[in-house]
Amino acid sequence: MPRKCSVIGCRGNYEARKGEHADVNKVSVFRFPKDECRKEQWLHRIPEELRSSEITDDMIVCKKHFESCFVICDMTCYRPDGSSFTFARGIPVLAPDEVPTLFHNTPSYLSTPLPPKSKAPSDRRAVVAARDDKRLKEWLDSDCITDFDDFSTRVSEKSTDLPNVWIALTKDDLILFVLIINIVSSLVPSIAVSFKVWHDMHVERFDEERQRNSSELAWLSHSGTARVY
Ligand SMILES: [Zn+2]
Repeated sequence: MPRKCSVIGCRGNYEARKGEHADVNKVSVFRFPKDECRKEQWLHRIPEELRSSEITDDMIVCKKHFESCFVICDMTCYRPDGSSFTFARGIPVLAPDEVPTLFHNTPSYLSTPLPPKSKAPSDRRAVVAARDDKRLKEWLDSDCITDFDDFSTRVSEKSTDLPNVWIALTKDDLILFVLIINIVSSLVPSIAVSFKVWHDMHVERFDEERQRNSSELAWLSHSGTARVY
């Protein structure tokens, strides 16, 4: 049985009582945030009489104390051509900045549910998805690269942000990004994927020793700056 909910009186993940279905209390759980400020926000929301006297790093709060629309049970991924597909997450995650607000079997004044934003769960998911799309669009719109020199400057400024398996090589007319992998059996590093961004902002991608079709890189052209060949 996974760890038990730390909210006093909640039976999230407790053993079933005699006569109850074995999984009656089985529920998704979330750890207290590591960030002290966020952890304080959680603790502040849990009524004092339901709060454990000591909160340790491995203590959790169960799903029952969060608005269902902010417990994200699926994930949307985007294909290179810009289309998307959604699948169920193995383990749900909380929306950013979410805090526990629901405490069942307690006086209503101890629960502080957020005002309902929409009626059906599907509508709520649509609201969250629309918000994510809006954030992505804002990020794409604000993260425009004007030309090769601008791109080159940003790459040199942010090269330390690249995961260390990626290498960026800058030349006057070309920036080459290379993803290095180590084949354990041979101990010989290999190039898994590489991108070339040329001075006229056209992009080439190579993997598995072949050049990818331009249609697979259409998403790079969002800003209109990059051209894909
Ligand atoms: Zn609970």
